[in-house]
Amino acid sequence: MKIKNAILITMLMFFVGESNAFWPWIHTGKITRPVLEQEGFESEAIWYIGTANSLVDIHQFSPQLHADDNMLGDASFELRERRKSVIEKLKACDGDAAREHFGQALHTVQDIYSHSNAVDDGLEGLLSGDLILNHLSNSTADCIPILLGVIRSFNSSELVTGYFGGQPDDVPFQTCTHTILNKDGFPSNDGLPHFEAVQAAKAGTLNYLNLI
Ligand SMILES: [Zn+2]
Repeated sequence: MKIKNAILITMLMFFVGESNAFWPWIHTGKITRPVLEQEGFESEAIWYIGTANSLVDIHQFSPQLHADDNMLGDASFELRERRKSVIEKLKACDGDAAREHFGQALHTVQDIYSHSNAVDDGLEGLLSGDLILNHLSNSTADCIPILLGVIRSFNSSELVTGYFGGQPDDVPFQTCTHTILNKDGFPSNDGLPHFEAVQAAKAGTLNYLNLI
């Protein structure tokens, strides 16, 4: 975290206002909340950020927000734009808007770990530091799943993500579907490295916070 932004970050951490909602989502309960608690964020601020995070799933057909459809370059662009707006809103003393944009960005950060082959193929390093902001591109790499026992490989040294929804004809040749790559839930995706993806997404969440 840059020192000049440290004061701004404290505005993210403390919520002023009221809230009234459940806390039902993996994005929030298993990833966002523990990381931000550890960093000293106030409970209400976490709730606000977590809600903004989870509401991104309303936009199911904006693949860049979920790092689907091999749109990692577009996801990266979104993360740069959100970072910019979080800082602008904090400078304008608009903590609520900053938390909203921060939560939305975290959704994309966390989905990258679940929807790409980063965890499966040990490519988390390609997402570290500011690489997640500046060095991701829409992949053209082949995504051919190789299933050897519990070892999953996608025949790629690049990051790739799966194609969400649509018809089989919508999935380009030698690419993967969202279904075969995502590690979204447990036990619905039993056998996929869900817990590893959650751990990696927690590290990615902290990394993005440190980039503000
Ligand atoms: Zn999503």
